[in-house]
Amino acid sequence: MLVIGTHMSIAQGLAKAAENTVGIRANTMQIFSRNPRGSTYRTYTEKEIQEFQAIRREHQLGPILAHAPYTMNLASGQEKVYEFACTVIREDIQRMDALGIENIVFHPGSHTGIGVEAGIQNIIAGLNQAITKQQQIIVLLETMSGKGTEIGAVFEQLKEIREGVKYPEKVGICLDTCHVFSAGYDIVHDLDGVIEEFDRVLGLDLLRAIHLNDSMMAFASHKDRHAVFGAGEIGMEALERVLNHPALKDLPFYLETPLDDMGHKEEICMIRNRIDNP
Ligand code: FE
Ligand code: FE
Ligand code: ZN
Repeated sequence: MLVIGTHMSIAQGLAKAAENTVGIRANTMQIFSRNPRGSTYRTYTEKEIQEFQAIRREHQLGPILAHAPYTMNLASGQEKVYEFACTVIREDIQRMDALGIENIVFHPGSHTGIGVEAGIQNIIAGLNQAITKQQQIIVLLETMSGKGTEIGAVFEQLKEIREGVKYPEKVGICLDTCHVFSAGYDIVHDLDGVIEEFDRVLGLDLLRAIHLNDSMMAFASHKDRHAVFGAGEIGMEALERVLNHPALKDLPFYLETPLDDMGHKEEICMIRNRIDNP
């Protein structure tokens, strides 16, 4: 059975997000690990955590994905920015792991002028002060569109980060269909070729999650704007091939499309109707 969900707001709490997931006929979800544009987080009460775990169990939700805040830049050469990012990733790995969340994804970051190599070394050091041998949660590097000085738009850079860390077995990849397309990987005309390339450079066993988005922006534009499933430059048929691909079909899919809960419910229903293993 397809494991699919959407990005869910945690404004009303963790249990409410899980409840809404069930309400839109999804069977997994992505949540922010803290306030996405700020630095704060709320401590969950024991009661709320128990409610959250009960919904997960009762409805057999698939792997839950936490997303680190966008304000965090682990590639930065500016001391204040970098230290903030180190603190956030360290705390959020620990916080999300304590909740039994399976994966946490983050944007590798933008080097903002210090160069790709220096940026990658900062990311590696930042991960090394955050990842512990005991943690269960896997930290996912997201494939990026490559806007500005963004790191992670080519698979080789993600490989270099992973191979640089002390516990590479705790690091995996989240592939964002919108981002790889705008980064110049042609998943529309050559999905097999892109998957082979991913396997050759990184290894398919590292792929733990798919962000299932269409793209408002053209192929290889290096611009990051998500479109509703089938309504962008990637299109319905190419996204269906992603969902049905033997190497991908058993992974959890997360929609980050610009819709409300009702819209997502319809989007998920439409997707389930169009695939081989609904
Ligand atoms: Fe992301
Ligand atoms: Fe994404
Ligand atoms: Zn994006």
